[in-house]
Amino acid sequence: MEAFSIKKMILGKTRLEVSRVGFGGIPIQRPSENEAIRVVQRAVQLGINFFDTSVGYGTSEPRIGKALQGQREEVVLATKGGWRDGEMVQGSLRVSLEQLKTDYIDIWQFHNVSSLDTYSSLFRTDGPMEAAIEALSEGTILHLGISSHSLEVAREAVISDQFDTIQFPFNLVYRNAAEELIDLAKKHDVGFIGMKPFAGGMIPRAKLALKYVLQFENVLPDPGFETIEQVEEIVSIIESPLNITRKEHAEMELIRTELGTKFCRQCGYCQPCPNGVSISLIMIAPVMWNLWPLESLSSNWYNEAIESGTRCVQCGECEAKCPYQLPIREMIKENMIFHSKRKEAGN
Ligand code: SF4
Ligand code: SF4
Repeated sequence: MEAFSIKKMILGKTRLEVSRVGFGGIPIQRPSENEAIRVVQRAVQLGINFFDTSVGYGTSEPRIGKALQGQREEVVLATKGGWRDGEMVQGSLRVSLEQLKTDYIDIWQFHNVSSLDTYSSLFRTDGPMEAAIEALSEGTILHLGISSHSLEVAREAVISDQFDTIQFPFNLVYRNAAEELIDLAKKHDVGFIGMKPFAGGMIPRAKLALKYVLQFENVLPDPGFETIEQVEEIVSIIESPLNITRKEHAEMELIRTELGTKFCRQCGYCQPCPNGVSISLIMIAPVMWNLWPLESLSSNWYNEAIESGTRCVQCGECEAKCPYQLPIREMIKENMIFHSKRKEAGN
């Protein structure tokens, strides 16, 4: 099947030529396997050649692996894995290679390194970084990346010049801090993979959200896809003129004002809660319901995390630590109600 031509970009020092939009692998856990495979194959047919997943995304890797059989050389596969120690890096990588049905990963990323302490631990002797470097020398990994929600970690990773890519949230709501990081990544020639271009489904206007992100020529937006219609819509946006009108600027500002006060960036600065509330998980309950499969949302661990909200004593300690001044106490209450309603409705 011949792929359509689509706008392309070079992803930093990897020098990989990738489609101007990537394929984020979380939501394809939601449809049936056959449908998920059709979604991936339609993306390839329309010219998307960058697929990003994680060993931690349930059925995502096996589905992408099945869908891309016979087309390995035509795509760039990026995945992420655990990194508690070197053994975990090797174990995650083995599973990813098997699930993705390949003998090499184009970009392997340390998944969600959340604090400077954990970032430092990557570099200890016989630690995760050494295991990743070994995989690079063996050729099972071609490029090394890192993903994080913490600006400090991302900044350190970029300036260290140890990574070929950085994956960080970037959308029109969460922009100021990230814009600084984008410039830094450009300066260091580190490929910037922009996760959550639609703020996890919270920005309803895909065209507007994507046009915003595409202004940054070194950012590869990586939205998640669940249906063929979504793939076709996004590709048609990429191929259309990307100039932003005054009206669209005003609409962006409106979305920013409305969502900015309620959008959790998952930076984790508010944690830990002295009463054991899983704050950042509860804060993104609506995003989870937009993107993750029902099995994950019905799992014990997730329901226990939401239930932990009942232990909130409204002390406000977390709000004092949130750099975005989010009304965490109020949002915990709202999101617990939201979760129980969606759970009852089963969707
Ligand atoms: S307000 Fe609630 S969630 Fe925040 S720190 Fe206090 S107990 Fe924990
Ligand atoms: S509530 Fe605030 S501090 Fe906590 S993860 Fe979200 S944005 Fe970060």
